[in-house]
Amino acid sequence: MNTIAVAIDGPSGAGKSTIARAAAKSLGFVYVDTGAMYRTIGLAVSRQGIAIGEPEKVLPMLTDSLRIELSYDAEGVQHVLLCGEDVSPLIRTPEMSMYASFVSAIPEVRAFLLEAQRSMARTHNVIMDGRDIGTVILPDARVKIFLTASAQARAQRRLIELREKGEDVTFDEVLSDMEQRDRQDAERAAAPLRQAEDAVLLDTSELTLEQSIDAVLALIRTAGEEKK
Ligand code: C5P
Repeated sequence: MNTIAVAIDGPSGAGKSTIARAAAKSLGFVYVDTGAMYRTIGLAVSRQGIAIGEPEKVLPMLTDSLRIELSYDAEGVQHVLLCGEDVSPLIRTPEMSMYASFVSAIPEVRAFLLEAQRSMARTHNVIMDGRDIGTVILPDARVKIFLTASAQARAQRRLIELREKGEDVTFDEVLSDMEQRDRQDAERAAAPLRQAEDAVLLDTSELTLEQSIDAVLALIRTAGEEKK
């Protein structure tokens, strides 16, 4: 099957997942949230009592018995399963964001997830979001978008999201966590966050969600026309 892949990368809070999910729904593509996979490994690691900063203790966990699967319900919403347990509600906390950023800097963890991510794109039309999709995972993606927004705008959006989930956090905490995570993601040696040379930069600071989704859909359609 000749599949179509759309890669969306960018820093945290740029709206990648909300925009990618909506665009995928509108196009009938599968949305693959790779951040959820790193968060799930982060959760498994924290459940083992391993502290952030102890990568050597993570390596022995990377075996076939660490089963991470994505499944989709009738509405197309992605659920992530850790050894069969739906951990989706547990991975969106500030603590798991930091655990995800920690484990994602370990090259062996990235290698562990690489094939699962590529194989999704071989078998389905996908919109995949993350940090290294356009640069490492799907270098031949039909469309590559680097989605960003000012740190202030991103922190404000993340704050609303966390408060809606009942997390008791302040704007300053969210901003400083986010800046730390961006720094870690951009400065690590293994697949750092960066814009692929052939990616289109889309800054959503001044755009509403609707406008951002429309802009992404327009980029995908234009690329489709060009390939004809
Ligand atoms: O996108 P999300 O905020 O859920 O990702 C959580 C963390 O997982 C990121 O801060 C980053 O460290 C890591 N990540 C990554 N590569 C990806 C997706 C996420 O390193 N493709």
